[in-house]
Amino acid sequence: MNKRVYIESYGCQMNVSDSEVVASILAKDGYTPVKTAEEADLVLLNTCSIREKAEYTVMQRINEMNNLKARNRDLKVGVLGCMAERMREDLLEKKKVVDLVVGPDAYRTLPELLEKVGTGQKAVNVILSREETYGEIEPVRLDTNGVTAFVTIMRGCDNMCAFCVVPFTRGRERSRDAVSITSECRQLVRDGYKEVTLLGQNVDSYKWHQTGSITTAVANGTRSVDAKGRHNVNALATVDFADLLEMVALACPTLRIRYSTSHPKDMTDKVLAVMSRYGNICKYIHLPVQSGSSEVLQRMNRGYDREWYLERIASIRQYMPDCAISTDIITGFCGETEEDHRQTLSLIEEVGYDMAFMFKYSERPKTLAARKYPDDVPEDIKGRRLQEVIDLQKCKSAERLASYLGQAHAVLIEGVSKRSAEHLYGRNTQNSVVIVPRVHNDIDLRPGMVVHARIAHASPGSLQGAVLEVLNEKVVGP
Ligand code: SF4
Repeated sequence: MNKRVYIESYGCQMNVSDSEVVASILAKDGYTPVKTAEEADLVLLNTCSIREKAEYTVMQRINEMNNLKARNRDLKVGVLGCMAERMREDLLEKKKVVDLVVGPDAYRTLPELLEKVGTGQKAVNVILSREETYGEIEPVRLDTNGVTAFVTIMRGCDNMCAFCVVPFTRGRERSRDAVSITSECRQLVRDGYKEVTLLGQNVDSYKWHQTGSITTAVANGTRSVDAKGRHNVNALATVDFADLLEMVALACPTLRIRYSTSHPKDMTDKVLAVMSRYGNICKYIHLPVQSGSSEVLQRMNRGYDREWYLERIASIRQYMPDCAISTDIITGFCGETEEDHRQTLSLIEEVGYDMAFMFKYSERPKTLAARKYPDDVPEDIKGRRLQEVIDLQKCKSAERLASYLGQAHAVLIEGVSKRSAEHLYGRNTQNSVVIVPRVHNDIDLRPGMVVHARIAHASPGSLQGAVLEVLNEKVVGP
């Protein structure tokens, strides 16, 4: 008993959230999480396969484990997550230091796999599931600031975007029971958390089918209520993403709610209407576009075109004029022409994103694109186009941040500023980072507090605010 585990998460927020589920499963098996690999009996790398570089980084880290094992002969090393699913043979056969390989749907089997490893054998389980959601497992929060937390609402993805490995590494879509999601959020409030991010590869296709009676529905809170307190009967049988957002907003009025990731083809006005109705649902949407060219979107198998996407953007702005929007962009996808690239630049210009994640196309084995299209855009052209997208987005982000100057924002403080111990950082509802002084009217401000701050300055990537008043739990809305 009292074994020590160190879990290192790579890639997306889903992996961070999964690592907390793993920590919970192992805690029942006598493992305590530790902060470094050096002090651990078991090191688990929770990996990402989204791009070649992500896998290369992990392979380097795995090699470093040889030195640790040289110093601690009993150390066990395991690889979890998307690389485990995609590269199981390579990891077990080519990486002698690796004892254990476990895919994203097989974490419940960790205790028995570790027993096998304990007898000196290698152990692997990469079976994907159509049911597994780890819904009833209470995560052990890791590396937490005690203020913000992630809650996974669904797993897998049924879309088949041509460039993406996720459907192969995380399996088919399944939505978690809405009741367990709401109770996990209530537990976060009891534990003092102030903000939750609801996670899914494509949250807009969240669908949970409720079974049981009306009384159960009322008791479980799976009966959504409109502004006039009228219950919406139709939502009883099936809870979609808009219903779930409303359930969490009603059940946890002091909790700020964010979510990620949306999909333009599935995002409904119903979701936007619910967001606009509740002050504790943050006015920020991450809506990956990937390309501004309808022809490229067609080849990417994204399920929408440029016009459809821009109509979604217009709808967001109609329901919530102050809503911030971010996106994902891939440059140099198979067959992308200069004209397609210009389409992407003009879309960035037209939307005016607050922020964007921008990458050049990295071919992933077994994906639709790898099977159907040659990776024919030369690396230097991919790089030049990426730089043009980055340069343009930098200007748009600066414009967006500058548009907040003089406004008063509610800022949830998360921690100490990296640049100055006399300053704290937090986020406004639009997910922009706001830096405020540590002390206000002789009050020592702390993480978890909500302050009203007037935006006094905008610098690349963050805002500086002058605190007007401390709001605390009273109001968490804009
Ligand atoms: S929606 Fe597309 S890009 Fe996103 S996880 Fe699913 S397949 Fe990948």
